[in-house]
Amino acid sequence: MGLYIHIPFCKQACHYCNFHFTTSDRYQEQMVGAIVKELYLQKDYLEGRSLESIYFGGGTPSVLSEKYLADIMEAIYQWFTVEKDAEITLEANPDDLTEEKLRFLKDTGINRLSIGVQSFRAEDLSLMNRAHTREEAILSLDRAFEVGFQDISLDLIYGIPTSTDAHWLENMEMALRFPIHHLSAYALTIEPKTALAHFIRQGKYPPVDEAMATRQFEMLMDFAQAKGWEHYEISNFALAGKIARHNTAYWQGKAYLGIGPSAHSFNIQSRQWNIANNQTYMKEIEKGCVPAEKEFLDVVTRYNEYVMTGLRTKWGCSLGHIRAYGAGFETFFRKEMRAKIQEGLVVENGTTYTLTQKGKHFADKVASDLMMV
Ligand code: SF4
Repeated sequence: MGLYIHIPFCKQACHYCNFHFTTSDRYQEQMVGAIVKELYLQKDYLEGRSLESIYFGGGTPSVLSEKYLADIMEAIYQWFTVEKDAEITLEANPDDLTEEKLRFLKDTGINRLSIGVQSFRAEDLSLMNRAHTREEAILSLDRAFEVGFQDISLDLIYGIPTSTDAHWLENMEMALRFPIHHLSAYALTIEPKTALAHFIRQGKYPPVDEAMATRQFEMLMDFAQAKGWEHYEISNFALAGKIARHNTAYWQGKAYLGIGPSAHSFNIQSRQWNIANNQTYMKEIEKGCVPAEKEFLDVVTRYNEYVMTGLRTKWGCSLGHIRAYGAGFETFFRKEMRAKIQEGLVVENGTTYTLTQKGKHFADKVASDLMMV
């Protein structure tokens, strides 16, 4: 089972971001207190099953002080059983990773870092309003390996208006100069209410060029394949045996508990999500209530979620799994799949269906055509 902890603080707002966070650090102490208390309140959610993975996401978990991170870790070990070889990941921004912080993280049991580099180019970092520089990105990676982290994932973004195909290739090559085992790469998407959307409307930056983003995704797939990396999820690549266990559990439909404002939890029958408002979250937790909305998942929703997540992975969708939802689902799935195979978007291997390289460009469309309404 997995545990996700949402830390809703960031040093500054990236222009493209629509995650739940605040740039004020005023309530860090109360927030950490609330997270610690929610861990207690939710200790039975996973019915005593042990944790195979813990993931600190956000926001930027690396902005938290050593003391606050230690408080959260202590509460996790107090209320949950953590497996000996559990994967414990912390999302970190390069500018937070001093040698002292890295040593602390290692000593406290974090064994995997997901470092948000996004780009090694100053122009791209400036457009995105990232808090770090190219030099800090390089230094943080060097330091993390020196301190002894072996599992490091690096995040990159492609399709940035200030970046050409040649720049994108340079970024990918630069990333693989470090002995990383995992790479996550996302297309820059312009969410409507973000600063970047506003700047593009004002003409300060050119709009995202969809054709360039498509080309750069193709370059990424070819590059990763040539280097012997496995493309195991649309946005994720790994060397053999180094897939992210926490995120893979999401995609494989395993249960997880999410703690903190805006965090989601899933226990196969239902999904629930905490309120995305820091003040209300802290007030309700103080009273001993978890402010969450809950949705029970009917068979159609579970089928749709399986198709949507399964197709994005190298494991694809299996007919045995689809059959378990009922005969009507299998008939519909097979019929829709035939068309996708003919279009060259999906390939059939025995009873498993996976996206082709061409199909990976249309993953959302293929999944939505396979969904039941
Ligand atoms: S650091 Fe991450 S969560 Fe924070 S604003 Fe930037 S992209 Fe969003």
